[in-house]
Amino acid sequence: MSEATILIVEDEKDIRELLAYSLGKEGFTVVEADSGAAAIRLIDMKRPDLVILDLMLPGMDGLSVCKRMQRDASMAEIPVIMLTAKGEEVDRIVGLELGAADYIVKPFSLREVALRVRAVLRRGGARAQPSVMRCGPITVDSLRHTVMVDGSEVVLTVTEFRLLEDLLQNQGKVRDREQILTAVWGHSFEGYSRTVDTHVRRLRAKLGKGAEMIETVRGIGYRASGNKS
Ligand code: CA
Repeated sequence: MSEATILIVEDEKDIRELLAYSLGKEGFTVVEADSGAAAIRLIDMKRPDLVILDLMLPGMDGLSVCKRMQRDASMAEIPVIMLTAKGEEVDRIVGLELGAADYIVKPFSLREVALRVRAVLRRGGARAQPSVMRCGPITVDSLRHTVMVDGSEVVLTVTEFRLLEDLLQNQGKVRDREQILTAVWGHSFEGYSRTVDTHVRRLRAKLGKGAEMIETVRGIGYRASGNKS
């Protein structure tokens, strides 16, 4: 079985090498670029299955690379996971609108990167999941990264957003804490189930009227219910 080829585009050598080492160990074939121009050249030559793209690059930046890829039909099909820093919210939204499949916020765990890479490859690349999901009064737009409850915007942290997204993607199904940890944090180890509870509590507090859509399933975990409202 031949594993996928992944192009890592990052000018910071330490981060690039760490990613390359870690994804190589996961069995992927890794190609590296340290600039946007080099990335476009390599995408053209090597046709990677996925691109991990840092937004902050000297010269041609990450968003320009996304735009350039969109102009070329064969490049546009290759899924992109963006690397962004905290505070690059706007760039992240633009990137998702430009067709990025997912994003990872720095600092990240290598485990999270591997998990997201596999998730994107599994769903066959292309854009982010169905962009708008509804659950009672809650509307989540994954592409625009917004959450509305009864038409008013609710501001969530990245973790809270992913948690809500995970529950809504599995609407009507019970998610145990381990599944939630793996999906949202990229790891699950004992003693961390309280982390899930804490975040669900914060999420509910922010959701106001929408809070009742997130049900506690005693002894197991949580479920987003779609049939109340
Ligand atoms: Ca960079």
